[in-house]
Amino acid sequence: MSGAHVLLVEDDPVAREAVAQNLTGHGYVVVEAEDAAAALRSWDAARPDLIVLDLGLPDLDGITVIRRVRREAATPILVLSARGRETDKIEALEAGADDYVTKPYGIGEVRARIVALLRRAGGPAGESSGVLRNGSIALDPARRVVTVRERELDLTPREYELLKQMLAAPGRVLTRGRLLRAVWGTAYSDEGHYLHVYVSRLRRKLAAADPDGDAKDLVAAEPGVGYRVREPRGE
Ligand code: CA
Repeated sequence: MSGAHVLLVEDDPVAREAVAQNLTGHGYVVVEAEDAAAALRSWDAARPDLIVLDLGLPDLDGITVIRRVRREAATPILVLSARGRETDKIEALEAGADDYVTKPYGIGEVRARIVALLRRAGGPAGESSGVLRNGSIALDPARRVVTVRERELDLTPREYELLKQMLAAPGRVLTRGRLLRAVWGTAYSDEGHYLHVYVSRLRRKLAAADPDGDAKDLVAAEPGVGYRVREPRGE
C-alpha cells in the first residue's frame, strides 16, 4: 500500500535509518521516533496507518506505547523484538500488538509483514455469511459445522472452538494464553499442555480429512509464543 504513513519507533539510529530509507524507497511516508515519548507525541499529532515499534526503548517500555495506542485505535502494530525474549513478544501480543519480527531481522521480512498488516486492516472483515475459510477448510458459525473438501468434519466442542479461533485470525500469531483463555476460560491460561494435545488432535483430524492437501498445515508453531495461522492462498 504505497503512500501509507508509518511511524517507526527505534532508538538505534543505524537500524532506524536503514528501515526508514528502505520503506521510503518503497513509497511509504515514514515518521521516525527515537524513544517512547517521541512516539506518543507523533501518535497524538498525526495518526499513522501503521506503527513499527522496537520494544527496548531508552525511556518507556514499548509495551506502554502499545497499551496507550490500543486505548484509542486499532492501528496495526508490528513489534521488533530481540531474539530469545519470548516473554516480551507474548506480552506485546497480549497488549495488542498484531505481529512481530525477531532481531536481527531482514528488511524484506519487515516489509512483507507491513504489507500483510495493512492489507488485513483495509480488507473485508470476512464473508457476509460469516463462514470462515482457509484452504479446503470452511467453518460455518451459524450452523456450527466444519467442512474439509466439502465433507463434514466431526469435532468435539473444544476442537471446534479452537479451530474457530484459528480460522478467525489468518496470518496472525495467537499466543498460547489467548487460545487457552478463549477456548477453556481464564482459569486455564497456564495449562499449555491442554493446548498442545488439542492442536495435535485437530491436526490429525484435518490431515485425515484432507490426506492429499494441506489442511493440517493451518497452523505452525511459533516457538515459545504460540501458533501462527497461515494466510489463505490467493487473498
Ligand atoms: Ca532498542
